[in-house]
Amino acid sequence: MRQIAIYGKGGIGKSTISANVAAALAEKGLITWYVGCDPKSDGSMTLLRGQRAQAFLEMMKGTGQGKPYEVAVGYGGVRCVEVGGPLAGVGCAGRGIIVAVQALSKDHFSKENIDVIIYDVPGDVVCGGFAAPLRERYADEVYIVTSGEYLSLYAANNIAKGLRNLNVKLGGIICNSREVEGERNVVAEFASQIGTRMIAFIPRDPVVRECENQGMTVIECAPASAQASAYRSLAEAMMRNKDFALPRPMEPEDIRALLRGSMA
Ligand code: SF4
Repeated sequence: MRQIAIYGKGGIGKSTISANVAAALAEKGLITWYVGCDPKSDGSMTLLRGQRAQAFLEMMKGTGQGKPYEVAVGYGGVRCVEVGGPLAGVGCAGRGIIVAVQALSKDHFSKENIDVIIYDVPGDVVCGGFAAPLRERYADEVYIVTSGEYLSLYAANNIAKGLRNLNVKLGGIICNSREVEGERNVVAEFASQIGTRMIAFIPRDPVVRECENQGMTVIECAPASAQASAYRSLAEAMMRNKDFALPRPMEPEDIRALLRGSMA
């Protein structure tokens, strides 16, 4: 069973990428779970035709610990769970993730024949949720989503620092394009400088918003689009990947120098 965590700055599009990767894997016949932690539930929502998955802690409140709970089933049979905290804006400092993953692990992950679990967990190292799946060793493969903008790279670098502190290896950087000048080269160079590689470049395409407005992933809503192919290629690259390394974070000033160099 592959257990993959996808990190990145808030708003960088990691839920879109995670949901589309989950859909692409399910489409290939792999038994896939999507574990999100987002008060907006926006990743699972596109796997569930626009329906919001009830947060795991909310379900537990209704059923009580140890009682049965329902896991939503989305596109291609993807099992969708949102482990977000009790109140939007208040957060749970990681408790939501730990409680949910412990229960899911006992009831499902250790018993069922699962191929892949995708953790679309908080991108902010400040949130206690960041380390939970890694520290508890539920996820052992990590990818970071960034664009070629300074703040995204800065956040990606901070995540790399967090991974280094936790002694967790990185499988690569996913560039979710913002159409910044020289972006592909900048992100590839950033990846190389922190000791990994750019595993995929995902173009910016209005089809993503169109599909999300319909409550679907691009894989489901526009399966023949170039964007769907980009997500499928990423999913395949992740499945083939054997190249994992402990990241070597950069100094913030070196990131700025890299960006200045790309504009020279
Ligand atoms: S505090 Fe972190 S783990 Fe808890 S709900 Fe918020 S983002 Fe998720």
